[in-house]
Amino acid sequence: MTVDIAISNALVLTVDERNCLYERGTVLIDDGRITEVRASEDGDGEIEATHTIDGDGRLVMPGLVNAHTHLELTPLIGAFSDLDLLEMMGSMTAIFGRLGEGDFDYLAEAGYELAALNFLLGGVTTINSMDVRPTAGAETFGEAGLRGFFGPTVTDLFWDVPVDEQFDRAREFIETHHDTYDGRIRATICPHDDWSCTRELWERTANLAAEYPDLLVHTHLLELEASNTMARANGGPDSLGLLNDVGVLDERLVAAHFRVTDEADIERISEADASVAHCPSVFCYWNPDAEMQWTPVPELRDAGVDVGLGIDDHYWHDSYSMFGEARQARLAANVKRTTGQYSSMELVRMLTIEGARALGVGDEIGSIEPGKRADVVLLDVDKPKFTPLTNVPAHVVNNAAPGDVETVIVDGELVMRDGTPMTMDAEAVQKDVEAAVDRFADETGWELHIGGGNPPGSTETIRELPKRGPARLLSRLALQSVRDKFSF
Ligand SMILES: [Zn+2]
Repeated sequence: MTVDIAISNALVLTVDERNCLYERGTVLIDDGRITEVRASEDGDGEIEATHTIDGDGRLVMPGLVNAHTHLELTPLIGAFSDLDLLEMMGSMTAIFGRLGEGDFDYLAEAGYELAALNFLLGGVTTINSMDVRPTAGAETFGEAGLRGFFGPTVTDLFWDVPVDEQFDRAREFIETHHDTYDGRIRATICPHDDWSCTRELWERTANLAAEYPDLLVHTHLLELEASNTMARANGGPDSLGLLNDVGVLDERLVAAHFRVTDEADIERISEADASVAHCPSVFCYWNPDAEMQWTPVPELRDAGVDVGLGIDDHYWHDSYSMFGEARQARLAANVKRTTGQYSSMELVRMLTIEGARALGVGDEIGSIEPGKRADVVLLDVDKPKFTPLTNVPAHVVNNAAPGDVETVIVDGELVMRDGTPMTMDAEAVQKDVEAAVDRFADETGWELHIGGGNPPGSTETIRELPKRGPARLLSRLALQSVRDKFSF
């Protein structure tokens, strides 16, 4: 018998139900699936395989899951880093509006290539991305051999693109891209959030979701104080109440952030069997308020809610590291509360199996167990930074970095071997990205150079904002705040 891939004598962190850890373990992979996981025996190095991997000094673990992200603007990494919050939001809104109108396709295409390459290099095998025009994303991640959930954003108060056109685009995307590349690429339905969508938009979302019952509904939920205010302006009791009214509060819902919440919200999301993507870095980096409420992750997990981790708009905080996201989840929770909010193993689970469950694919991926699809990464742990290997889960979430990932397997295929991507040409990607960023800087007047970045002058930025969208959004929120105050 010959298998496709045989890994032996490796440290194996299975992330199965018992968190089984083999000091010397063997993992066999055949026809896309994991077929055997066990302690290594003498002679395992000679198992007949198309690819034999000596696991000595290597940690084998499930591929990482980035449960909430946006990828189109990846080439703008470094461009926002030192702006203040208002400058960042202003310049971002202007770009978002123009993306919606079909500008900057070259930047988005380069963005998907750069994101796929860097996530591949860093052991991220599954992403869940909400973008403006995700077609290039679905194709780039599909070709790269990675796993991805992609959906086009729909929103009516933030954006000037006609709603009919947005839903036509969403339907076309689903018809063309859902369940492609052997099921590695799946479409999602993406109402942007609960503070920039009207009730009508949620109702249309619910209709589309009913038409495509296999798809996740991916949104930003209870991200801002404005979330419940907008729900009341939309005639709902609150944000979750509005989603329940229209019929999308169920197990297909993936809610990014879920931050401004109370006990009743936790109970309701748990009863609905919906899941949460927690994105600590983006909020720590762009904290709008020193007293900011924090996502109640321990309580959500205690209530049985699947919580994955997401890197969100990673080009706003200059990171491709999902390991870093786990560390940030721990540090932020400890600062907001007290030490000991998570064990290291709980964070490993959120990075892998719980992220997979949050995306509805926990039965297929997220752990190293016989029968599962083989999404597996190998880290080189034969390094001073990992010596001694006391407490492997703690090394993974506190100490590991993307550069420690050496080999990546997705769906049983080697997409990176010994540090070399097998499915992407890294040099070509770098060239494309540099050309795209030069063109973007020329077209927009953004200054982007080795010393930093500067958006075009603020008056110009504001002139480029979509006219109708934000004005309607802000007036609706202001009116509801007055109503709330005087309770009429
Ligand atoms: Zn987001």
